[in-house]
Amino acid sequence: MEADTLEPPLTTGDGSDRGQPPNAAALVGGLRTYFRSGTTAGLSWRRQQLRQLRKMLEDNESRFLQALGDDLNKAPQESYMTEVSAVCGDIDHALKRLKNWVKPRRVSTPLVAQPARSYVHPEPLGVILVIGAWNYPLQLLLSPLVPAIAAGNCAVVKPSELAPATSALVAELLPRYLDNDAFACVEGAVPETTDLLEQRWDHILYTGGGRIGKVVMQAAARHLTPVTLELGGKSPCIVADDADITVTARRIAWGKFTNAGQTCIAPDYVLCSSTTADRLVPAIEAEVRKMFGDDPRQSPDYGRIINRRHAERLAAYVKEGEVAWGGQVDVEDRYIAPTLLRGTGTDAQVMQEEIFGPVLPVIELEDFREAEDFVNRREKPLALYVFTADSGTADRILNRCSSGNACVNDCMMFMAVHELPFGGVGQSGMGAYHGEHGFKTFSHYKAVMKRGYFLDLDLRYAPFSRRKFKLLRWLR
Ligand code: NAD
Repeated sequence: MEADTLEPPLTTGDGSDRGQPPNAAALVGGLRTYFRSGTTAGLSWRRQQLRQLRKMLEDNESRFLQALGDDLNKAPQESYMTEVSAVCGDIDHALKRLKNWVKPRRVSTPLVAQPARSYVHPEPLGVILVIGAWNYPLQLLLSPLVPAIAAGNCAVVKPSELAPATSALVAELLPRYLDNDAFACVEGAVPETTDLLEQRWDHILYTGGGRIGKVVMQAAARHLTPVTLELGGKSPCIVADDADITVTARRIAWGKFTNAGQTCIAPDYVLCSSTTADRLVPAIEAEVRKMFGDDPRQSPDYGRIINRRHAERLAAYVKEGEVAWGGQVDVEDRYIAPTLLRGTGTDAQVMQEEIFGPVLPVIELEDFREAEDFVNRREKPLALYVFTADSGTADRILNRCSSGNACVNDCMMFMAVHELPFGGVGQSGMGAYHGEHGFKTFSHYKAVMKRGYFLDLDLRYAPFSRRKFKLLRWLR
């Protein structure tokens, strides 16, 4: 049955029907009908929805911080920084720039097509599906929703079932704040997501692992639906001998152990010389002690692993090298200590798979120049980090190594720059969002030419002649 021939779903807007629409086809059909009404294209409607989304986060900030604490034991300040305020920042940026983003851009029209005016005109795509992941369960769900709204679309967000408290809270609150005819939150795991993926969408943005990324892309291909895949991978952190060890150690420790290492752009492993490793490892240890104390398990600021399965996976990694610091594991408590490994072989599991947890192998290279080859022999990473005092070294590595994103002398901070696209390359993903890049992802840039009836040159019309041909060559 054609999805768009179905009646729109009945939504009360009070949250009582939250999370479980009658069926996915009816839901998408209803949203598409509303999209066709043209309401979502209006600039003031878009602004109002963005303000409402912000209001939802502000009114319920403490509940969101609590839910994120329940799911991942995130400290309130960390949740505020990396989830709530990150989305609010995206909203503020979109509200500030929207007027500019939606403007049709005039381009020049060649002589042969004159008189006319030509434009690139952004138009909304339609109905968007956003599938979120569990590690930043709020940010990864709502940050893509911001540009979807800004671009004038309807959308369904599907939170990760592995972060149930955040998922339930979004499902409860979203219908109370946003236009229910345009937006819905569908909770669920594989069966619900499979149902959603069977529908025809105008764009799907998925965040998660590459295995399910293929499932999403295959489902999208059935309808020729474009996809943005925000995936992961092993993000290297190259530290040169001339790096400022104290600052480097602090920034790596922050990048690696925030959210207990469950960050797609966390440094996965370090590459450096043995002499640098001898200085860097104790320096990272010192910084971890400053952040989380001598026993990070007691720290209210140190997170837990999302579930037992992942804790067991990480516990196995801890054994794959000489533990230079940390190594304590309590699977029941989902606790894995911040762990520094040395002497790990490159064929160990921990160096084959994305770690996605607080285990940091430090791989020692005999010659620093091997670092580029080491990176290039592996899949293109989501992020690449280079620590060096020499801008020439940094530029050489950035020019030779492909990655979704990169940062010199810091980790992850590029995420704070709204004008930068966020996305992977190769196995770490395709497409990007954030700021105007997100607006572009959820828009179609339509080519528009406007002409009047004046001056209708006969050059293109038969019968052709030598005169017309000559004139055509001259005008081209
Ligand atoms: P996950 O288990 O939360 O799965 C992601 C989403 O896929 C969830 O909403 C889930 O319900 C859905 N899903 C799971 N199985 C499915 C199936 N068979 N069919 C349809 N949908 C299904 O997250 P994950 O995959 O464990 O996430 C970890 C990975 O995500 C890591 O590789 C990490 O690097 C990557 N990641 C990337 C980003 C990014 O922005 N690039 C951000 C966070 C995580």
